[in-house]
Formats: sequence, C-alpha cells, structure tokens
Amino acid sequence: MGDLSAMVTGLMTVTVGGSSKQRDQVAIKAVHDEHLISYLRSLGFDPDGKRLASCKFCGSDVTLKNLAAIFPQSGSIKAVCDQADCLMEIQELLREGTIKL
Ligand SMILES: [Zn+2]
Repeated sequence: MGDLSAMVTGLMTVTVGGSSKQRDQVAIKAVHDEHLISYLRSLGFDPDGKRLASCKFCGSDVTLKNLAAIFPQSGSIKAVCDQADCLMEIQELLREGTIKL
C-alpha cells in the first residue's frame, strides 16, 4: 500500500520549472516536440516569429520557451506563459469550468 497522503486530490497540480521529477506533476495538457510547431501553425500562431502571442493573463510575450498552455476561449485561442501567477489563473479557470483542456 502506498502512502495515501501522497495521492493527488486536487483538480490538477502545476509545477513551475524545477526538476524533471517535479515535471511529472504537470497536468496541463502540453503539446511537445515537433508536434508543437505544426499544432501552433494550425491554430494560426507563427512559431517562426520571436513571439507567439501575448499571455492572456499577464500580457507578457509568450514564446516557444515559456509557453505553458494554449486553450480556446470565446472563439479564439489564448496562450499562457509559464509564470506561477498565470499557471494559477489557468487552474482557477479549470476549476470554475470556464475552460477545458
Ligand atoms: Zn503570463
């Protein structure tokens, strides 16, 4: 039997950066590697540009490096950077059911 207290009970757990071990906790749907580029293109982003979009929450430039999540809202695709505050905002929207990944 495992340690029950170690079970994840929240809707989702987001870990910012950190070790690869911590990254296992990231539950936000992520599209990685070569699929990311074509995926972004299909959504109308320009992966070849310096920036993809402005973060929906903080307004910072979202690039391939700091892209944390992409989700549709109000008929357009929003990009979110990987700042802790923004990840918390995503969690909040998910909890409210405003967005689904
Ligand atoms: Zn942000």
